[in-house]
Amino acid sequence: AKNAGRNGLRFFDPLMQAAVSQRAELEADIRQGILYGQFLLYYQPQVNAQGRVFGAEALLRWLHPVRGLVSPGSFIPVAEESGQILTLGSWALETACAQLVEWAKAPHTEPLVLAVNVSSRQFRQQDFADHILAMLDYTGANPRRLKLELTESLLVDNVDDVIAKMTSLRARGVGFSLDDFGTGYSSLSYLKRLPLDQLKIDQSFVQDVLTDPNDAAIARTIVALGNSLGLAVIAEGVETAAQRDFLAQNGCSAYQGYYFSRPLPVDVFEAYLSAQA
Ligand code: C2E
Ligand code: CA
Ligand code: CA
Ligand code: CA
Repeated sequence: AKNAGRNGLRFFDPLMQAAVSQRAELEADIRQGILYGQFLLYYQPQVNAQGRVFGAEALLRWLHPVRGLVSPGSFIPVAEESGQILTLGSWALETACAQLVEWAKAPHTEPLVLAVNVSSRQFRQQDFADHILAMLDYTGANPRRLKLELTESLLVDNVDDVIAKMTSLRARGVGFSLDDFGTGYSSLSYLKRLPLDQLKIDQSFVQDVLTDPNDAAIARTIVALGNSLGLAVIAEGVETAAQRDFLAQNGCSAYQGYYFSRPLPVDVFEAYLSAQA
């Protein structure tokens, strides 16, 4: 506006003001939630071509005293901005490691790989790798059972630094998956340099894979890319048998999605495992 400097009040926007205080409120609420232990992990099965569960993705949930069960979409963006994702993410990793130890104690269950989301802000911490290694040590979790899901947004950083952190964790057996693959702006040249184990086809491509030829082409291309780089490929957001079949016919043999199961609280997840055993 022309006379911007003359009258600051001219820019007072009640809607924006409301948004700002809502954000501050949510931030304070998250702080309370952390303090009172209101966060928990849900587990979504990951299934192979034979339909057997080989792993799970740990997904944050917030059991809010008033709002009930809250999904991460409504609090992670704020937690990212406030830095609270560092506390939440660290809690999620530690809880996942402790869960792996619990599962390893149950002799009848097959060993599972647990995938945990790591925000770029978390990974960017200078001591991230040491932090994870220390956590593995004091929980006693088997590093080979832990898979960290990273996103392409990490690649705006110093890639050598990213590779160094990944390499030191990988030396101990920790695996890495590139989450939401194809939605970011990763360069293919980085892809071959990163010590990855898996690409995860984003659900936005899986959703219309049967009806949108572009999505079908993208899904096929990601599978081919993964195969030629020696990476496993998993599809997320698989909701129907037809989507699973299409993916299977195109060489993708690991799936996650509502067709198999929604994310489950730990006891229900364990019951799901027993039922298939
Ligand atoms: P994401 O990593 O892409 O996780 C997949 C999301 O898709 C999950 O949403 C999951 O519940 C949902 N989903 C799984 N199968 C299906 C399906 O068949 N159809 C549909 N429509 N959706 C499906 P959720 O649990 O709400 O998590 C949302 C995002 O929050 C995650 O996306 C991830 O980016 C973030 N997030 C969750 N837990 C953590 C965490 O511990 N740390 C960090 N940094 N981020 C997390
Ligand atoms: Ca994920
Ligand atoms: Ca996704
Ligand atoms: Ca589409």
